[in-house]
Amino acid sequence: MATPTTSAPSCSVPNDVQRMGLPLIHGEHVNRTFAAKEPIVAISDLSFGIREGGITAIIGESGSGKSTLLKLIYGLLGPDSGEIRYRGWRIPGPKEKLIPGHDAMRMVSQGFDDLNTYANVWDNVASQLSNTDIEGKFRDTEATLGRMRIDHLAKQRIADLSGGEKQRVGLARALVNKPEVLLMDEPFNQVDASFRETLQLDIRSIVEETRLTVVLVSHDPSEVLSMADELIVLKSGRLMATGQPPQLYHQPPNAYTARLLAKSNVLEADEVQSLGIDVATAVAIHPEWLSITENEQGSFTVQDIQFKGFYQLVTVQRGAITLNVIVDAAVVVGDGTRVDVNINHFHPL
Ligand code: ADP
Ligand code: MG
Repeated sequence: MATPTTSAPSCSVPNDVQRMGLPLIHGEHVNRTFAAKEPIVAISDLSFGIREGGITAIIGESGSGKSTLLKLIYGLLGPDSGEIRYRGWRIPGPKEKLIPGHDAMRMVSQGFDDLNTYANVWDNVASQLSNTDIEGKFRDTEATLGRMRIDHLAKQRIADLSGGEKQRVGLARALVNKPEVLLMDEPFNQVDASFRETLQLDIRSIVEETRLTVVLVSHDPSEVLSMADELIVLKSGRLMATGQPPQLYHQPPNAYTARLLAKSNVLEADEVQSLGIDVATAVAIHPEWLSITENEQGSFTVQDIQFKGFYQLVTVQRGAITLNVIVDAAVVVGDGTRVDVNINHFHPL
């Protein structure tokens, strides 16, 4: 295991931290602004915790501060105020380290810029290890290629690989050093949908086998809902929600989280009341919590039908209210059809 970089703790020592059961990585009141004509607030008063040995996903719309947070955790950026600690020790910023990045962590970036395109897969991975122990270097490279299921590609040049294969090499390069934390920024962007799921499953099983801690940035709910143990939801650099995926999905604490994770329909109290439900607050209604029945006298009209394979996403409208409804693929729905909308479940916000 790599030894974590330590810098003098200003109050607690790691043993205290472990006894108190604090998260592996935790941030308190972190702020980070970028200088521009109008200063850009990327992270604002953010407090968070990341548990050891699991997958935490940072999710939010584009520009919400996800990549900035990942860089702050790794130490590529320093906070303007507040602090981030790893095992209780403050993470050193870029000015405090010769080689940027925390020694106990590795980061896999969005592109493949850190791969040597003209070298083969084996050399790209082996080059991360020192030559002081040649046997160990061979053993660890072989084991890591095997674990990432790219041993059969060992002699191939990076330039000849697919996006998904390159991503596996990038991961192998990061993992061969046995980091305690793996940071990934939108790691599946360039991976074909058909390979994405097996790569996600492989990362999950590595986490389960090795107690590796993974922090993953994503804007795609389908990716993080199945993969992550914990979610950190960001909007404009602020923490909107944190919790386990099923909990945040079924009981979103606010409209942003409901829309982001479930593409939920968010209605104001008066709108919901007009649908016959007596509530005093806005509510989230996920598309699968609604159903429609054809009725010539129905008050809603079908506006749009999107075929999605085993289901269809149907948009219905009544005046100012537009709702997305998931309908079984076998049901025949026509554009302009009048329908009744049934609310089978809703979540008050
Ligand atoms: P995300 O990864 O969620 O898309 P980022 O963390 O990259 O968001 O960016 C958050 C905000 O900070 C955005 O408004 C972005 O334009 C700005 N930002 C990020 N990096 C820089 C930088 N190096 N210089 C200036 N502005 C930046
Ligand atoms: Mg980003």
